[in-house]
Order: sequence, then structure tokens, then C-alpha cells
Amino acid sequence: MKFASTRDAGSRTDLSTALIAGLAGDGGLHVPSTLPRFTPADFAADDSIAGVAARLLQPFFEGDPLADELIAICAEAFDFPAPLKPLPVGQTHLLELFHGPTAAFKDFGARFLAGCMQRLRTSVDAPLTILVATSGDTGAAVAAAFHGLANLRVVVLYPEGRVSPRQAHQLGCFGNNITALRVTGSFDDCQRLVKQALSDRELQADVALSSANSISLGRLLPQMAYYAHSALGHWRRTGAPLGFVIPTGNLGNALAAILARACGLPIGEIALATNANRVLAQFFAGANYAPMPSVATLANAMDVGAPSNFERLRWLYPDDHALRAAFAVHAIDDTTIRETIRNGLQGLGEIFCPHTACAVAALEKLRRGGATQDWAIVATAHPAKFEQIVEPLVGRVVPPPKALADLLDRPAYAEPMASDYAALCTFLRQRE
Ligand SMILES: *Cc1c(COP(=O)(O)O)cnc(C)c1O
Repeated sequence: MKFASTRDAGSRTDLSTALIAGLAGDGGLHVPSTLPRFTPADFAADDSIAGVAARLLQPFFEGDPLADELIAICAEAFDFPAPLKPLPVGQTHLLELFHGPTAAFKDFGARFLAGCMQRLRTSVDAPLTILVATSGDTGAAVAAAFHGLANLRVVVLYPEGRVSPRQAHQLGCFGNNITALRVTGSFDDCQRLVKQALSDRELQADVALSSANSISLGRLLPQMAYYAHSALGHWRRTGAPLGFVIPTGNLGNALAAILARACGLPIGEIALATNANRVLAQFFAGANYAPMPSVATLANAMDVGAPSNFERLRWLYPDDHALRAAFAVHAIDDTTIRETIRNGLQGLGEIFCPHTACAVAALEKLRRGGATQDWAIVATAHPAKFEQIVEPLVGRVVPPPKALADLLDRPAYAEPMASDYAALCTFLRQRE
């Protein structure tokens, strides 16, 4: 399949080219030129998540040099589970996406992208440096996914003192082909530095650069697999479609669910849960789309004032009225996040990370409004990643899962850097 740009429906780019380039040539985002249609019968009844991923992504990879590698890439990227856990309240499940190396859903996309990039960089190529600005979770997932891969390097910029100590530790604990830069500045400063480098032709004549942010097709496409896998399983057991309540910042994870549904998977309603950053809530309430500066919240991986995948949502729903009718958006403030973590879903003792808590609170609103159908709350991170917020609220220690504990046991180091573009260029050139 070829890929078009959100800004030019007639343009055509190969998948491999789109994966390396990140943005489309006209500054838009890459989108599939057509959407394949599936029925549940297209997926073998006992399929693993890797098997579902390979079947689902096959039409998107058709004709691309990576097509022959797709099964292997899926097997590598989807080698940990995404269980759909029934909760002891009616019609409600938890889709746990936090069983990967850094205990957040971004592990799926980052590992898939790494598998693709590794195969696209042959040994004769100069090393490719993946530049990532992170407010915490993205950088760790990308670092874990690319760690130890030949001919690929990762440089992660994070705002010193503004990520949690555990997040900082995860960023600095890899070493080898991964470098963590602790920048004296904000996340926006980090992102500005990365964007400037990615559009600097002079720098890129010396240093081959690419990105791995949430607009990357190599992260977006594989994320459809866990929605397909869980919805298919639910469909076979119950004959009913499964709805999803998805914690949302840049709309990367949510867009994967929307695409999977558009491809015919048995997915019911999709509800979006944001934190107090209200740009989506205001648009869906009828206002014009108006990006704004982000505000800091307890669900910091969703502190987004201009969701980068919004352009893809508009490509799927060119009519604003139809778009507004298709989804419900619930903005959840910090007070409600705290209450939700403390209550643990009607006192049942389930512990949620602050992002997942937004989805829990949104579903509680939907239920109060009379929604009786089957829903899955999408759990985007393990609560132990945010222990400084969660533990005081639940009144006990939340032990990290084994993979995360292993990372926290390693020594960590991050290089200091001023929030200064010349300093970043010097650093990147010296590493060559
Ligand atoms: C990144 C992240 C989100 C938001 O995902 P988007 O794709 O940006 O909408 C939600 N929860 C956690 C834990 C995250 O790391």
C-alpha cells in the first residue's frame, strides 16, 4: 500500500520511506491511501496478538520491502501480553497495556518501529540517530526498544527536574547506543530543539537524523493490534462489540482504535478521556479547534495543548459535525483523578495510574448517564511508574512489575545540557 498526506490526498509515499521520514514532504501526516476491510472470520480463532497484528497489518505492508519481514517484526514487538481483564463491576474490562519493558503502552509502538528501522538500515549505511524529546514515557519506551541495535542510536532530551525520579532513571539506565540529555528547560524547550534539528539540512549533512514521536506511522499502525485482538476475543465470547475508553493526549493511541474500527473490527463506541487540557473537550463541545499552551496535570504524559494526531482525525472525518457526533470527550481534572485513584473503582481495590484514572472517571460518567454496553478501560501505564502520586493516595506501596524493577536496579547517567541549539549541534557532531 502507498500512503497519502493529510494535506494532499493525491500524494503517494512508500511505507518504508514514510517510516524513516516521519512527516510527509508537505508537512502533513502520512495516512493510508485506502483502508482494508476485515471481518472477524479473517482472523484465526486462537490467534495470538502477534498473529492478529501480522494479519491486520499485511495490507498496509503489501508491496513494501518490509512485507516479507512483517511476521518476524510482529513476533518481536508483540512478545508480551495485552490482557483484557474483566473487572468485578458489570460489563467492564481493563485492557492492560503495561506489560512491556517500560510498563506503558508506548512499548508496543516503539518496539515495532525499532524492528522496522533495524531492517531498513543496512550495515553499509551510516548510523542513524533517533532524536526524541520526552516528558517521560516516550523516551523510555524508545530507548528500551532501540537499545543494543546496530547502526541505530537514540538521543533523548528531557527537562531536568520535571520528570519523575523513576522516569529519569529509566531514561539514563541504558547507556551503549542510548544517550540521555537532561536539559535545563521545559519539555517545550526540548521539543523545540528536536524540531529545529530535524529540519536543519546542514546538520543532517553531517549527522543522519530521524524521529520516533507519536505521529510516526511505525508507532500508529501496530497499536491497532491490541484493540483488534481484545475486541475479537470479546466478540467470540459474547457476540457483542467492545467499546473503549482511552486516555488521550496526542491522540496516537486513540487513533489506532479508531482506525481498527474503520477497518471493520468489532469495536463499539470509542470515548476519549483527557486531563484538564481542554482543547479536545472544547472542540467536541462545538468550539473551533484552538490549540493552546498545555497545563501541567497529574497525568503528565497527556499534558498536550495541540494534539499532534488531530490532523489525522480530521482526515478520517472531514466534516466537523460528523466528527463531533462520532466521539464523546471527557476532560477530567486533577481533583477527580485523585479521587478516582483513592476510590480504586467503587472500593474494589484496583489501582490505576493517573492517566488510566482519567478513563475510569470518564466511564463512571458514562455509566451514570445510562451507558450499559460492554466497555474496556484502556490502562496505558502501570501505577508503579507514578508511585509518588499513587502511593500516598492508596496508602500502600505499589511494587513495580519485574521488567521495570530490573531497569530501576541498573545504574543511570544523563549528560547535562543547556537549552541551547548550538550545544545540541556540537553534541551530535562530536558523537559522529
Ligand atoms: C503517552 C501516554 C498517554 C497519551 O497517549 P497519546 O497517544 O499521546 O494520546 C496516555 N497515558 C500514558 C501512560 C502515556 O504514556
